[in-house]
Amino acid sequence: MCGNAALSKYSDELVATAKKITAAGKGILAADESTGTIGKRLSSIGVPNEEVYRRELREFLFTAPGVADCISGVILFEETLYQDGSDGTPLVEALQRQGIVPGIKVDKGVVDLPGTDGETTTQGLDDLGKRCAKYYERGARFAKWRAVLKIGPNEPSPLAIHENAYGLARYAQICQENGLVPIVEPEILTDGEHSIETCAAVTEAVLAAVYKALSDHHVLLEGTLLKPNMVCAGAKGPAADTNRVAELTVKALLRTVPPAVPGIMFLSGGQSEESASAALDAMNKLPAPKPWVLSFSYGRALQASALKAWGGKKENLKAGQAAFMKRARANGAASVGKFEGEGSANGGESLYEAGYKY
Ligand code: 13P
Repeated sequence: MCGNAALSKYSDELVATAKKITAAGKGILAADESTGTIGKRLSSIGVPNEEVYRRELREFLFTAPGVADCISGVILFEETLYQDGSDGTPLVEALQRQGIVPGIKVDKGVVDLPGTDGETTTQGLDDLGKRCAKYYERGARFAKWRAVLKIGPNEPSPLAIHENAYGLARYAQICQENGLVPIVEPEILTDGEHSIETCAAVTEAVLAAVYKALSDHHVLLEGTLLKPNMVCAGAKGPAADTNRVAELTVKALLRTVPPAVPGIMFLSGGQSEESASAALDAMNKLPAPKPWVLSFSYGRALQASALKAWGGKKENLKAGQAAFMKRARANGAASVGKFEGEGSANGGESLYEAGYKY
């Protein structure tokens, strides 16, 4: 069954976990913002960055009525993996009870690659095996590692592409040895003035390098998920419409991602809530062969209007949940090409942040 992939005692379980996460009409909630990043979100609604508020936000998302109808997995930050909800139930258990797979962010952020113009590599490999074993014991069944690339006059450089591809592959292999399905995330930032065609070419080159590295590291592709950017124009580049985003994204994926990969779960990358739903829907409606599930693993595009509706106030918890469920249901529908254009309270407001850190 595994071909060239390394045999792990977890092989069957990895395949089953990936299958569960890619269930039709469902996707992933990325709620793994680092303490610094969640602090920025909380401060945007006038709430202090204290553990109690970080918990309250995550808890209301995880317990929103009907959440398991359209969310199959949640990526957690380490703090949340070990946190109890308001009734004393571990938050990880609140997810498991609903059949939602808990995941964990395992990277330790990015550092500069010396000799490049601000390109980066992702840290966290040294003790990764030990941490993965510990997270598995606590209930995590999948993981995330974010590699970041940028488009510039000479970027991404061959060094950045190579270094990030092999970092992702090594991470993926360590996760699989420890029973966690790796989400492979080579995010190409939208910062820049480039055209959508440039983003398409770069996305293709990066994904080709990533799948070569995964193959070299004997990663079991059937037990992985890909989390790419959609192919979009630069934030300051000539705008491209939704259908063009869908067409060029699927084309880049068809040229580079093996059909053995069960699911491609996009990041939202600063698109507005509505654009992120519309683009996913357009891809699923495209009359092209799509050998993988195309779904979502959104952070900002699932949480922006929920954060505003909640505003850090207990009396608004239900309103926050309702706003979140509106996006979750819209994206669940988009993942099977049945999005009807349901708007969000946030409308088409862009969620782009320059040099996005997670
Ligand atoms: P956005 O959907 O906000 O881009 O983030 C998702 C994510 O997990 C980035 O690593």
